[in-house]
Amino acid sequence: MSNYWPVPEWISTQSYKQSPRSFGSNRSKGRVHAGCDLYAPLHSPVLAITAGRVVESGFFYLGTSQLTIDHGALGIIRYGEIAPEKIPKVGTLVIAGQQIGKIGSLGRGIHPMLHIEHYSGRSTGSVTNLKNAPYFRRGDLLDCTKLLDSLLCLRSKECK
Ligand SMILES: [Zn+2]
Repeated sequence: MSNYWPVPEWISTQSYKQSPRSFGSNRSKGRVHAGCDLYAPLHSPVLAITAGRVVESGFFYLGTSQLTIDHGALGIIRYGEIAPEKIPKVGTLVIAGQQIGKIGSLGRGIHPMLHIEHYSGRSTGSVTNLKNAPYFRRGDLLDCTKLLDSLLCLRSKECK
């Protein structure tokens, strides 16, 4: 099964390993970042990393939406901070590389981005868990850095 880098127009000089974009970087009130941020132009495409099924869809943050897709063996990915228009509903099947949305607007002064979270799929229920500090996410949350590192070769077509 083929995989795709999720943001074709990613601004690669803005590393997802550096704060404030990196996993675990500090947010307000003791919260830490549960994902990795891929900066990209407003309304540029967001692709499904691989085939899967939408398990959550809807409001996310500052007027943007999120899609959470069960990608089977690869785990569960939340694609956040996408534009709310025309996003697939829960239960929709997607194919690898399919455009699932566009980069959304977070308002003035915040660079548009895809916020991406990775879960193993070992837990059930909503991936947001407001009782589970400091990430406030479900217990099977993974460090997205490893997944993105493994996919990065897809941009340069250097994958073996
Ligand atoms: Zn983020």
